[in-house]
Amino acid sequence: MENAIHWFRRDFRIHDNTALSLATRRASSVIGVFIIDDRWFPAAMGKMGPHQATFWLDAIRELKDQLAKLNIPLRVVRSTDPVKTLLEIAATRGAQLITFNKDYEPYQLAMDRRLAKYAAGAGIEIAALKDAVIFDEFEILTGSNNPYTVFTPYKKAWLAKFSSHPAAPGPIAAALRPHPMAADVIPTAEALGYAAVRIPIATGESGAQKMLGEFADSRIGFYKRDRDYPAITGISLLSAHLSAGTISVRQCVQAAAEQGAFRGCAGAEHWLSEIIWREFYKMVIFHFPHTVCEPFQHRYRHLQWSDRPELFEAWKQGQTGYPIVDAAIRQIRTTGLMHNRLRMITAMFLTKDLDTHWRLGERQFMRWLMDYDQASNVGGWQWSAGTGTDAAPYFRIMNPVLQGQRYDPLGKFVRSMLPELATVPDEFVHEPWRMDGAMQRDCHCIIGEDYPAPIVDHGQARAAAIAKFQVS
Ligand SMILES: Cc1cc2nc3c(=O)[nH]c(=O)nc-3n(C[C@H](O)[C@H](O)[C@H](O)COP(=O)(O)OP(=O)(O)OC[C@H]3O[C@@H](n4cnc5c(N)ncnc54)[C@H](O)[C@@H]3O)c2cc1C
Repeated sequence: MENAIHWFRRDFRIHDNTALSLATRRASSVIGVFIIDDRWFPAAMGKMGPHQATFWLDAIRELKDQLAKLNIPLRVVRSTDPVKTLLEIAATRGAQLITFNKDYEPYQLAMDRRLAKYAAGAGIEIAALKDAVIFDEFEILTGSNNPYTVFTPYKKAWLAKFSSHPAAPGPIAAALRPHPMAADVIPTAEALGYAAVRIPIATGESGAQKMLGEFADSRIGFYKRDRDYPAITGISLLSAHLSAGTISVRQCVQAAAEQGAFRGCAGAEHWLSEIIWREFYKMVIFHFPHTVCEPFQHRYRHLQWSDRPELFEAWKQGQTGYPIVDAAIRQIRTTGLMHNRLRMITAMFLTKDLDTHWRLGERQFMRWLMDYDQASNVGGWQWSAGTGTDAAPYFRIMNPVLQGQRYDPLGKFVRSMLPELATVPDEFVHEPWRMDGAMQRDCHCIIGEDYPAPIVDHGQARAAAIAKFQVS
């Protein structure tokens, strides 16, 4: 075959990229296309946030250079209709094949269905391949051929299948003969209207390789012990890379296996389990697309939420008066990162203590996170709100003071984000309102002036949340 197009969507790498490799094997000339979807990407749309946009564009810049070495020019175009744009490029280039790696989110799936329809009419072959997961939508099903809705049996089935079908990373895309077309210039995030932000982790495919290497060499063995403490780096920080596809999930699973995930290394085993959570949520969103905006558990569809914008605003500004919540929010706003434990605490606080709809929080995280992934985000929010698959039972509500004391016992993380608490004694760092007036003056932290008083009483809010769920 003469000409093919590989459509890059969330797979910004050349190593172990299933559909890209296929394009280079099938065609003698390949171009890559990345479409800046104007309904999603630019700052003005209020969807993808500055950290993720900057992270993606950095990755695409590196990708363009790597593709050039394989004689694959990268076209980068803005469009409000990616399908139409892709078909126009295919027509201009005389492409007989369009390849891409499958996605599982409703927005992308709708686009893929449209593309398949019009491409068939234009005589263009479409190859949509499994790449972002080890097992996709119909590979892990219950005995009665239904999707799993509970994580633990899903994981058991996943591990059993993996033992008989281990997935290993595939080859790098093959080099082709030189292509006459020049690659496009990649816009900066600022050119798309975003404020300049600093990305706190290594970017691009090379950054992902380095980070996985470091994690596998030195931290994975301690993952189970360290993973819940935001003041130490016990986690991999690879989620933004997995979400942008700058690293393949197969390589991550292989690293876990090499470090003993199947030979009794508790850290590697636990890390693999988190990768399986990611995959579980992708399958949930595929089979239950309504969960993007409705509760997974049908019985909670009439649950009422308060509409108190001033409370939501305080949460958004990191001004709730609960230090672990406020520190987490300030971290996500300044870095695009938030530790998993803190995501659970802040999401539960918004939905249970502030009785605010999880969808508002989900959308806010979409805007803030560098690793935003709709399946994991919706899954995490619904879990925290008590409406999702495997959700925390409604009566298990995290207490922000106890969570802070347990997972940040010396207040190191909290102080790193809230300088106003810098000299508050350890004993009070998670409940500074308990300091008497003299102590507040001594450590320059007057409650209500330097740092807010709690905006709600956790005990009362907890009782109200439980009562609300009980009647639903
Ligand atoms: C309210 C809420 C919202 C979330 N939103 C997102 C999101 O938008 N994007 C996202 O990637 N993750 C999300 N998560 C899951 C999790 O918090 C992050 O994946 C994790 O914090 C990323 O850090 P890490 O890469 O160091 O993970 P590690 O602890 O090193 O785990 C390795 C990988 O496993 C996956 N993973 C880990 N925990 C989970 C989980 N609970 N659910 C699904 N996958 C997981 C991630 O891909 C991660 O990179 C959310 C969780 C909650 C509670």
